[in-house]
Amino acid sequence: MHFPQEFLDKMRVLLGDQFPQFRYSLEEESERGLRVNSLRISVQDFLNLSPWPLEPIPWSRLGFYYREDDRPGRHPYHDAGLYYIQEPSAMAAAEVLAPKPGERILDLAAAPGGKSTHIAALMDGKGLLVANEIHPGRAQILAQNVERLGIKNIVVLNETPERIAAYFGPIFDRVLVDAPCSGEGMFRKNPLACSEWSLAHVASCAVRQSLILDQVPYLLRPGGYLVYSTCTFSPEENEEVIASFLARYSDFVLEEITPQWGFSPGSLQGTVRLWPHKLRGEGHFIALLRRQEDAPVQAVKAKRSAGRKSEAPELGEYPEFASQALKKQFEGEFRRFGDNLYLVPAEAPDLQGLKVVRAGLHLGTFKKRRFEPAHALSHTLKAGDVHYTANFPGDSEELERYLRGETLSVEGPDGWYLVAVDGYGLGWGKLVKGVLKNHLPKGLRQP
Ligand code: SAM
Repeated sequence: MHFPQEFLDKMRVLLGDQFPQFRYSLEEESERGLRVNSLRISVQDFLNLSPWPLEPIPWSRLGFYYREDDRPGRHPYHDAGLYYIQEPSAMAAAEVLAPKPGERILDLAAAPGGKSTHIAALMDGKGLLVANEIHPGRAQILAQNVERLGIKNIVVLNETPERIAAYFGPIFDRVLVDAPCSGEGMFRKNPLACSEWSLAHVASCAVRQSLILDQVPYLLRPGGYLVYSTCTFSPEENEEVIASFLARYSDFVLEEITPQWGFSPGSLQGTVRLWPHKLRGEGHFIALLRRQEDAPVQAVKAKRSAGRKSEAPELGEYPEFASQALKKQFEGEFRRFGDNLYLVPAEAPDLQGLKVVRAGLHLGTFKKRRFEPAHALSHTLKAGDVHYTANFPGDSEELERYLRGETLSVEGPDGWYLVAVDGYGLGWGKLVKGVLKNHLPKGLRQP
């Protein structure tokens, strides 16, 4: 592979006598990782189920290396959201953020959702996660991944960081800025990043990163934590961005990240770098900052505060569907957006005026005198949560046919069936006289 000479020259200066090892690592194959979605399955249960040999990734108890030829991204367990395919180093950022169940967490640059879905798992379904993505198409992909992994306590937004800051105010316990960057750490995985690289691009990324970080003081509560991460090596986008942020905001201090598991100290005390020649993963930079407890809080930019609407929505035919199909009761706040019914996280504000892609769990859609369950709902359910299941093993032909969008022959009473792989819901079917009509969304069907 061809790497820009200016990039290699910079790396030679940065790494000194380690440069030859680094240069060699660029020619090696990248490592493959998957992260178990503990919202759906425990690590132990997944290890018992996994058809592939897995090796633990040291910095996340949910993360495992898999062999390239095994292709877990093509297995029905992936469709069911039992795991997320994620580059191993990328699993470090959410671990450093260390979100706790019940907290309010903001991921400002969230698509496609690797770190948001990791954060959601660490929150164990409790508290509020706001995942924002500025690009509309990428925000849709984020929402799809959030639904695939069965995450309920999340609001997915398609906003600018400025508008997020103007809306919410300093309510978040932890904020992640996984910034758009020049992607030098991904060159061997993503040749496009390599072909688009230039010194000017690095400089423009650094400006954008600082502009995103400038919104954090409006959003993070005093005493709260900020994690800043990139997948690039250039100090201009890493240590220099953080040093200049600290110079602008004296109420933030750097917290030490222990350089263990092959992590290396960054050139700014307390930050870490993940180098591909020192561990089994791609290049990353991570900084952990804390906002001091006694920090003066910036005035909320919002004209409107993040208040809530409390009118109970019209549930229409949902209760009838729920009693026919579900054994599990959903508790929380039901909210209607047009013809769609959502279960919104208890902590969510009214969200009016924001570009909302998903507000919690999509339960379903009101059609003419009936309620049709949402695909997202099936990903929060197991066989024991519903009255009727069409359950198949991972290697079954029926499942392959279902995932292609075909109908199946199933015996049983008419009604809604959860289609499941080894008991884990991955879609809906409606049985009428022995024929299970396929309700897998068209965009998710396999060719
Ligand atoms: N955190 C994501 C994950 O783990 O899957 C990856 C995020 S990626 C490194 C950075 C994201 O920032 C991209 O999705 C990009 O669209 C978004 N972005 C680009 N410009 C932005 C801006 N000015 N403000 C906020 N986000 C931006």
